[in-house]
Amino acid sequence: MTARLAHIARIGEKFNSILAANTPQFGCIMNRAVFLDRDGTLIVEKNYLHRPEEVEVFSGVGPALKRLVDAGFKLIIVTNQSGIGRGYYTLADAVRVNEHVCNLLAREGVPIEKCYIAPEAPDQPSRGRKPSPQFLFEARDEINLNLPESFMVGDKLIDLECGWNAGVKKSILVRTGYGAKEEKMSPAAVARAVAVNDLTEMADWVLNCQ
Ligand SMILES: [Mg+2]
Repeated sequence: MTARLAHIARIGEKFNSILAANTPQFGCIMNRAVFLDRDGTLIVEKNYLHRPEEVEVFSGVGPALKRLVDAGFKLIIVTNQSGIGRGYYTLADAVRVNEHVCNLLAREGVPIEKCYIAPEAPDQPSRGRKPSPQFLFEARDEINLNLPESFMVGDKLIDLECGWNAGVKKSILVRTGYGAKEEKMSPAAVARAVAVNDLTEMADWVLNCQ
């Protein structure tokens, strides 16, 4: 009888260890994200913008992003700021602009998890300048993101390429900023992405994609 009980106990332990190995633990839940380019995507494109007072958030952006937040998406800004590398303005200027954008969105109930800035000019060595996926990988590790269930949104081909390089579910081109021009200039490349008119349509597409 004792041997039989010991045998049953061993089976129980084995079952528990299998269960533990296959049950998602609290804290291991992976997040989905929408990575957002800044200039021409969230805010009106202005050449080498570096003053917070010049920021103009596109109409409808707050409510569109709020729907994504409510659906559980983390929002992350990834921006190339070559004006820093070219000496036109400083990293501190770019950070101030980002903070202003984040504050404007926060007023509409939209939290931005993190902003990544690539400060280099195109001819300078860079770790994170788009189309590099480096910042998306860093965000994945830091915020525990599931990149194959995430999206990259921008108005340039390099934004789309960044998403593809990171292995996101879909790269999305907005026709604001340089987007309409990019679509016209590189139709074959853009065909691999989804093209939408603005962030309202982007949110519609992402939420319908689930
Ligand atoms: Mg842009």
